[in-house]
Amino acid sequence: MRVHRLRLDGSVHWAVARDAEHARLWSNAPWCGGYETTRDVPLDAAAYAAPVRPGKIVCVGRNYAAHARELGHDIPTEPLLFLKPPSALLDPGRSVELPPESSQVEHEGELAVVVGRHLRRAGRQEALGAIAGITCADDVTARDLQRKDIQFTRAKGFDTFCPVGAWVETEPGPLERVELITRVNGETRQHGRIVDMLWPVDALLAYISNVMTLEPGDLILTGTPAGVGPLCAGDTVEVELPGIAVLRHGVREAIADTA
Ligand code: ZN
Repeated sequence: MRVHRLRLDGSVHWAVARDAEHARLWSNAPWCGGYETTRDVPLDAAAYAAPVRPGKIVCVGRNYAAHARELGHDIPTEPLLFLKPPSALLDPGRSVELPPESSQVEHEGELAVVVGRHLRRAGRQEALGAIAGITCADDVTARDLQRKDIQFTRAKGFDTFCPVGAWVETEPGPLERVELITRVNGETRQHGRIVDMLWPVDALLAYISNVMTLEPGDLILTGTPAGVGPLCAGDTVEVELPGIAVLRHGVREAIADTA
């Protein structure tokens, strides 16, 4: 099923799609103990919010060999982990803001996994059973600051640098068959296959759970395939998992804080 968060009547609601046009409101996310209400809403009356409320966003760097090579890195021998702050989340349809501190902001289209269960030092089988659903994300990165800083926190952590959505698919089928496409202004920049990940999703979740406890709602960004590239104000970005979900967002200059 497709899980949405919808902005409607001045508040944000969890919802599950009933058909292409309608959704049933839920009390909370299905992976956080939510239950179905009796209220249906037309999807075109709502604006989509990011369909996640993660306690943390854990990201994996260089999980596709071709992308590690395009940045001039060796293939890592273990998953490379970093965090994005939840304050970086951006609703579908809104615009990434280019910060004045960077002159090289790039897209990284990624498959994102929503954690559905408490996971601590899990094996791969347990981790596989803890996947609540998948969605699309853009791990927006200030590449010049990533090179300049030792830690990735600043380069990956600006407000708006984590567009996610447009919905979470809870029954995506075998992930080995899933493809990932990133387009900028309609032109394909990235086209990867999930089967080409160096560490598959279950191995990543198990590995991360050996470092930090994963909780329902946590979001895992699983790395980007080759083809990352610059973003400019006015661009439209699409990250698509064909047949599963599509995320669109814009890009604009950050508005200067005049306070
Ligand atoms: Zn990334």
